[in-house]
Amino acid sequence: MAEIAFYENKFVDINEKVVPIQERGHQFGDGIYEVVRVYNGQPFLLEEHLERFQKSADAIELVLPFPKEKITAIIDEGITRSEMKEADVYFQLTRGIAPRQHNYPECPAVFSMTVRKARPISNREKGISVITLEDERWLNCYIKSLNLLPNIIAKQKALKNGHGEAILVREGIVTEGSSSNVFAVKDGKLYTHPATKRILHGITRAKVMQLAKELRIPLVEKEFTTDFLKNADEAFITSTSAEVMPIHTIDDTVLPVDRPISSMLVEEFVKLYHHHAMK
Ligand code: PMP
Repeated sequence: MAEIAFYENKFVDINEKVVPIQERGHQFGDGIYEVVRVYNGQPFLLEEHLERFQKSADAIELVLPFPKEKITAIIDEGITRSEMKEADVYFQLTRGIAPRQHNYPECPAVFSMTVRKARPISNREKGISVITLEDERWLNCYIKSLNLLPNIIAKQKALKNGHGEAILVREGIVTEGSSSNVFAVKDGKLYTHPATKRILHGITRAKVMQLAKELRIPLVEKEFTTDFLKNADEAFITSTSAEVMPIHTIDDTVLPVDRPISSMLVEEFVKLYHHHAMK
C-alpha cells in the first residue's frame, strides 16, 4: 500500500515538492476541492462529488482542464495504485500557475489529487461533544473553496478544548460544522439548515435526507437557533469522513443518551456504503 499523489498531468511521489511558487492555489487559495471516501476499493458517491466540483468551478469561473471522465479515470488509477481498500481521495483545482496578480490569468487550471488511508470512525456509540462558535466565513459557503482559514481556526479551537467539532452560528442561526453539516431531532422530526449559500450542500447531508424520507421520518429544512439545537432530543453531524456522528454535548448542555432516530440513520447509512462496496 502506498499514498498516491497526482499534480497537473502526472502521478508524483507524495513527498516530492511539486507545487510551483507561482501556483494560484498557493498564492491566493484560488481554487476548489472535493473529498471522496473509498470503501472496499470503490469511491462512494463519486458522481455527486463530481457534480458539486463542477458547480464550485462554475461559481468561480474555473474551467476544468479536461472532461469529468478523465478525472474519474485519474481517481480510479490513483485508488488502484494505492492498493488501499479504505481511503480518502482529495482532489483540487486551482486557477493555475502565473505571475502573482489578482485578476485571472489566461492559463489552464491545475488539477491535483492525493489518495491516503482513511481514518477509521471511532466513538460513534458515544458520539462527540461540540462547541458553538461565531460563523466568521464569507457568504458563499456553498462553494467548496480551498480558502478554509475560518474553518480551520474554528476546528482548532474545538479540538484544543477537547471537542470533536465546532458548530458555527451566524446571527443566532446554526449554519453547519467547521467541516460537517448539522442535524437536530425534535419531537420525531429531523431538522437541518436549508441548502442556501450559507452552507456547503453536503453530499452526506443529501443522502441522510433521502434515507430519512425513505424511513418516513418527517424532514424540516429550516433555520434553527443554538437554543433549539441545545433543546433537541438528538443531534448529529454528517460528512464524508465522519459519516453520521451523534453529538452528546453542546457547550455545557448534555443531550439525552437515547437516540432512536440517529441510530436508525447511522445504521441505514452504513448499510448503504456496505452495499455499494459489495458491487
Ligand atoms: N460543511 C463543510 C464546511 C465541510 O467542509 C464539509 C466536509 N466536506 C461538509 C459540510 C460535509 O460535506 P460532505 O458530506 O459532502 O463531506
